[in-house]
Amino acid sequence: MKPVVQFQSISKSFGANTVLRSLNLTIVEGEFLTLLGPSGCGKTTLLRLLAGFELPDSGDILLDGARVNALPPDRRNVNTVFQSYALFPHLSVFDNVAFSLRMKKIPSMELQERVEQALAAVDLPEFGTRKPRQLSGGQQQRVALARALVNRPRVLLLDEPLSALDSKLRKAMQVELKALQRQLGITFVFVTHDQEEALSMSDRVVVMRNGVIEQIGGPREIYEKPANLFVAQFVGESNLLEGIVTARLDGSSLAAKVEGLDCVLRLAKSYHMGDRFNVLLRPEDLHLVDPSDPSARLSGQLVEQIYKGMTLDCVVELDSGKRLFASEFFDQEEHARDFQVGQRVGVSWIGGRERVLKNNG
Ligand code: ATP
Repeated sequence: MKPVVQFQSISKSFGANTVLRSLNLTIVEGEFLTLLGPSGCGKTTLLRLLAGFELPDSGDILLDGARVNALPPDRRNVNTVFQSYALFPHLSVFDNVAFSLRMKKIPSMELQERVEQALAAVDLPEFGTRKPRQLSGGQQQRVALARALVNRPRVLLLDEPLSALDSKLRKAMQVELKALQRQLGITFVFVTHDQEEALSMSDRVVVMRNGVIEQIGGPREIYEKPANLFVAQFVGESNLLEGIVTARLDGSSLAAKVEGLDCVLRLAKSYHMGDRFNVLLRPEDLHLVDPSDPSARLSGQLVEQIYKGMTLDCVVELDSGKRLFASEFFDQEEHARDFQVGQRVGVSWIGGRERVLKNNG
């Protein structure tokens, strides 16, 4: 796969605040790549460096193999869609989309054709004469998209473009954006702090914290095989149990205590006696069973049940005091409905669904 964007050892500080620390990232042609991380981790700064609104302190940014570190934004084949849309209120939809083509003195026949194509791509072919204030939030967002797409950018940068929309429209736009990206084949770099949005749209997700990349991977990999505790807790709901290695049984099996219970786990060779670790369990992998059921691995008291339509969410307090969250889907097994709050319950999961993570932050 052909690299389109390469960040090579990029560092950036604002005064004493180091925002990006020797960051390396390659973005390949045609992919939908999402930068995900908590507020302030440096996502927008990375996007602004690529767009040319900021200069790196050190390192190189390559676009199609050419160094663009100090190239002004209008000389890079990259366009940005902002959270605020930034439409010109006094211009019609057509003129908003045509604006950058007029600046580039594109002949009027070609301009007309390209604006119409861009408006058709975002499903607003009849809206050219309207003013932005006559459009809904979702429609304004599509105009902002058309205005970027009309330049036929090599890479489209999207900085939290859906965050101003209500949740239903946001979900619909996620599907539309992904379909549009696939249809146009343009490389998308999307910034969000919403993990669900990142997982549902992206080919690859880059999870960032404090200016460094914690993990890069496909949505499934990030969710099911988080590289460390930070990724496990930031992406999705998680239960974390504390464990300690108590004995080595054979080559790869180690005896361990997890939240006070003795168990046998298969751990990597790098674990030693006395090592502390965490066991990650996703709520949807946990099932409530009778405490005497042979499949029960842990037991505790059912302290809460929340009906959510598709799922019944249960909170179980273990004897250690730790609370576990379990989401039971109604279309699977229906045990959860048989239990009453206050009752003792067992918690089971299919072996192998747990993920063991070293306790190193
Ligand atoms: P958010 O999700 O809140 O937008 P982010 O991950 O996109 O966060 P950035 O906008 O990249 O984070 O900001 C990273 C850090 O850099 C923050 O501490 C921010 O205050 C700081 N910062 C960003 N731009 C500037 C600037 N122009 N001058 C000074 N500090 C800045």
